[in-house]
Amino acid sequence: MATLHDDNCIFCKIVRKEAPSVPIYEDNHVIAFMDTEHCMIFFSTRPVTDIAPVTKGHTLVIPKHHYATLDAMPAADMAELGRVLPRIAKAVTSGCDTKDYNIMQNNGKRAGQVVFHVHYHIIPRYPTENKLL
Ligand code: 5GP
Ligand code: ZN
Repeated sequence: MATLHDDNCIFCKIVRKEAPSVPIYEDNHVIAFMDTEHCMIFFSTRPVTDIAPVTKGHTLVIPKHHYATLDAMPAADMAELGRVLPRIAKAVTSGCDTKDYNIMQNNGKRAGQVVFHVHYHIIPRYPTENKLL
């Protein structure tokens, strides 16, 4: 039986509102919030390129239950997340005046995973940006 919550996990803290975030979607199973860097960008006057190699609107979509990597996630939670991910991506991109985006999902340190609570990145793409990922 998987542990559904981890007291040391920053995303579990965001789920429980014990840590701040800029949420953009929430239901019983899933929460979506702005990536940290973009919390900074929205509240900063510095240009995007000075802060991080990600784009405006970069959003993270996570299951409310704690699973470290995708392979640990049960089918029911996958289904709930898969049901809303395209809708959230569409809302994020249309709010950012673009139609194009990447979905990125990292599993394991060598794959670039830093936060060990499953998350999907939604990264809006713009006509004039340099490709950074
Ligand atoms: P990973 O490399 O694990 O796929 O991505 C982790 C993501 O979580 C990074 O894009 C990082 O900016 C974001 N992140 C890390 N800590 C926080 C936090 O406390 N709040 C928010 N909103 N995002 C975070
Ligand atoms: Zn967690």
